[in-house]
Amino acid sequence: MDLLAVRPRWIMSTALTLVLLGMVLMTAWAARVSLPPLFGRVIVVDPGHGGIDSGTHDRRGLMEKDLNLAIALRLRKQLQKLGAFVVLTRDGDYELSYMSNRSPSRHQRDLHSRVLIAQRSQAELMLSIHINASGSPHTRGSIVFYQADSEASKRLARLIQEELRKVAPWHTQSPLAGRVYYILRTSPVVTALIEVGYLTNPEEKDLLCQAEYQEQIASAISTAVLRYFHE
Ligand SMILES: [Zn+2]
Repeated sequence: MDLLAVRPRWIMSTALTLVLLGMVLMTAWAARVSLPPLFGRVIVVDPGHGGIDSGTHDRRGLMEKDLNLAIALRLRKQLQKLGAFVVLTRDGDYELSYMSNRSPSRHQRDLHSRVLIAQRSQAELMLSIHINASGSPHTRGSIVFYQADSEASKRLARLIQEELRKVAPWHTQSPLAGRVYYILRTSPVVTALIEVGYLTNPEEKDLLCQAEYQEQIASAISTAVLRYFHE
């Protein structure tokens, strides 16, 4: 056997293996760093009400369901930009009672359908968007409700409330346990129900109708979701 002939071949094959291994590691590293931060996360965004259920409304026919949807569509876009797979419970003006036969009440079936969507899509989070109403025109600001028996939901609600506070100084309310809300009581995934403001406060109503403010609200919620997964 000619040892001088074997050695260069051995060195060559070892060098080639190392180069190939290096390329594989580089590719893996590049793929890891280029993935968006919410890649692989499934998030349900639920615009409250829809169809015959307008939610709260003013005398001129401005309806909560329409503003909920406008904000939810913006939130979907922002979460998608961060890499999340977003499931909307509705993407138009309709209600969801047709999906469930759980109850004789249309309203209960509608809410049950939203929970079913969260369950069947194997989501990690559900964000339900609503707008509040009060007997006093002075009451304003967001309230984030969480699942009373879930520390994760409470943490998510706290982060959302913190980010909303950066949008406007009157978002001062602390998150509350939402024991009366069907979605919060029954959702199998970590859920927050966000009342983003009051339709009964003239100043806040004007803001909620503006694209820029809707975008800021959506941005605050998506930043909170990012913090939820990465803090
Ligand atoms: Zn509502």
